[in-house]
Amino acid sequence: MTRTMTNERIAALGYDYGAQAALRPAECNLCGAREHAVEVAERDRYGYPATFVVCRRCGLGYLCPQLSATQYEHFYSEIYRPLVSAYHGRRIDAETVQVEQRDYAAGLANFLLPLLPSPPRTILDVGGSTGVVASVLAARLNARATVLDPSPEELAVAGATGMETIPGLVEDFDPGERSWDLVLLCQTIDHLLDLRGTLAALRRMTAVGGRVFVDIVDVDVLLDRTGHIERAVKIDHPYYLTRPTAAALFTLTGFTIVAERLTDDGHRGFVLARGPAGEPNWLALEASAAQFVAAVS
Ligand SMILES: [Zn+2]
Repeated sequence: MTRTMTNERIAALGYDYGAQAALRPAECNLCGAREHAVEVAERDRYGYPATFVVCRRCGLGYLCPQLSATQYEHFYSEIYRPLVSAYHGRRIDAETVQVEQRDYAAGLANFLLPLLPSPPRTILDVGGSTGVVASVLAARLNARATVLDPSPEELAVAGATGMETIPGLVEDFDPGERSWDLVLLCQTIDHLLDLRGTLAALRRMTAVGGRVFVDIVDVDVLLDRTGHIERAVKIDHPYYLTRPTAAALFTLTGFTIVAERLTDDGHRGFVLARGPAGEPNWLALEASAAQFVAAVS
């Protein structure tokens, strides 16, 4: 398959990203800095004119400008699956994704289950799609699963298997007094529009003594493997994390890392416990941000 064929399939979708993305975050979503971002790439892996910037103070990578929440809603309902299908040159839809998620869930269960201090009775899968991952873990743990997801079609599949479903975005979800023993944010964090707000919300939804699993696409690892930042940048990911920036995000929002893993596809997974919220080492982050910018420039 040639690059030209891929480009032609993507062009045939007629999606004009450059004309849509106009939202400029006023401050860095991790450290809050204004006017500290440096531009390091201007194309994404699909060829769209996506400007990728890195915060000089903390190293957080993000698209600027980016799509608004409403534009992302349209993107996910109309463009996303056809786009990744065109990029990979094979059909990717709700059905094929379920097969991939079963493999992912089996690997996650083998890693995660021995690390849990006690068997969780309740599981919340944030951005849990059709509920494949939640149902695999719930069956292995004999726990009750809840799936929170913005897609009604995907939630309908989860609901049909008897799981509790909650429609909507985690950013808007008010759990009240409710909490869960195990909270999952699987292959989702890079798609969020508010990292800090979401992690703070996850902290409130986690029971005392509970655990959270979060995985990131580690851009340091992708950069090492591909040698080109443009291969790591894609319009479906507003934010780009590394091990240092993810650890800083967890510290700021009151989580302690209790275990982690790196999978072959560049996903770095973290098992988190509730801890005190604190300030990360900003000087060390600034130094690793400078290293990252030097590596991509
Ligand atoms: Zn920053």
